[in-house]
Amino acid sequence: MAQIRVENLQKSFDQFTAVHGSNFTIDDGTFFAMLGPSGCGKTTTLRMIAGLELPTEGKILLDGEDVTFRRAAARDIAFVFQLFALYPHMNVAENIGFPLKCQGMGRSEIRQLVQETAKLLRIEHLLSSKTSKLSGGDRQRVALGRAMVRRPKAFLMDEPLGALDAEFRHLMCGELRDLHDRIGATTVYVTHDQLEAMSMADQIAVMNKGRVEQIGSPQEIYDRPASMFVADFIGSPPMNFLRFEGGLKSGDRTIDFHDARIAVPEIREDRASAPLAFGIRPEHIRFADTAAVRGEVFGAEYLGTTQIVTVDTAHGRLAARLPSSASVRIGERVGLEFRAERVSLFDVG
Ligand code: ADP
Ligand code: MG
Repeated sequence: MAQIRVENLQKSFDQFTAVHGSNFTIDDGTFFAMLGPSGCGKTTTLRMIAGLELPTEGKILLDGEDVTFRRAAARDIAFVFQLFALYPHMNVAENIGFPLKCQGMGRSEIRQLVQETAKLLRIEHLLSSKTSKLSGGDRQRVALGRAMVRRPKAFLMDEPLGALDAEFRHLMCGELRDLHDRIGATTVYVTHDQLEAMSMADQIAVMNKGRVEQIGSPQEIYDRPASMFVADFIGSPPMNFLRFEGGLKSGDRTIDFHDARIAVPEIREDRASAPLAFGIRPEHIRFADTAAVRGEVFGAEYLGTTQIVTVDTAHGRLAARLPSSASVRIGERVGLEFRAERVSLFDVG
């Protein structure tokens, strides 16, 4: 079991810096997701932790020990690329045991470890099957077994479910998290899919252009996004933003927003500068006849228990999540009320 710590971790390829000085600690047993759009430096970070890429600057510590220059094979970490890659000419037991055989371990010891691993994955009944006969889910369990069999201190997974269709991906997310809870090994899971990260991780690092913008639990990141980027990336539909030119004083509890007065969390001193934006999630907007922000209903998207209603206002098109039972007419004039304690304020970068 392992704690993973990166200090000022940086990676440049020629002139281009892919990772700008990351700092974070992943506690032992944590399911940690690195989340961000394509190209933000997730794979590069993961490869440095694995020992497949040397950092330009900074350190990697495993359980407090500096392993920055230790080769991958000596780090006791399993790197899972695409869970589907199996050796087609071997059966399930041989696939799972292959890394042990490469280490020169004896046959009876291999058999025992393969058995134990198969039991954890609930695929003992498949040990003598050909991999070509397996379902997609079982193939994935076998590939995971091969990564697990050496009892690594940590698992690094790079978009392992990327190639799967949505329904199957959802199933495997549940299985991976369940497996993590049974083994308890530290897991670093890279994905560009916010729903995967939100549903599986204890902690999420949201990355943008080579920088970690926020680290926190799924709920912290959702409820208190540290930047407009994070607020926009997490949540579907995304947060609504309304920009305005400052003029705030510290201690203010309302914003004069054009002709509307909007209640907000108390303005801190370091925020009392222009320009700012405030953000409000669709589920924190209500229709209220007396509300000062007004607009015309543009459309309504039915989602079962809720509907997303878009409203054109003088400040742009805003999305509100309302119960499906609310009756909404296209073209209707409505007032929008924001839940003050749910408003976030951002510096406009
Ligand atoms: P992600 O996994 O988040 O999609 P990567 O870590 O793969 O992002 O890449 C981050 C950036 O670094 C990208 O712009 C990518 O093109 C660049 N990059 C990654 N590997 C190399 C490399 N070996 N040489 C040059 N540029 C690279
Ligand atoms: Mg990648």
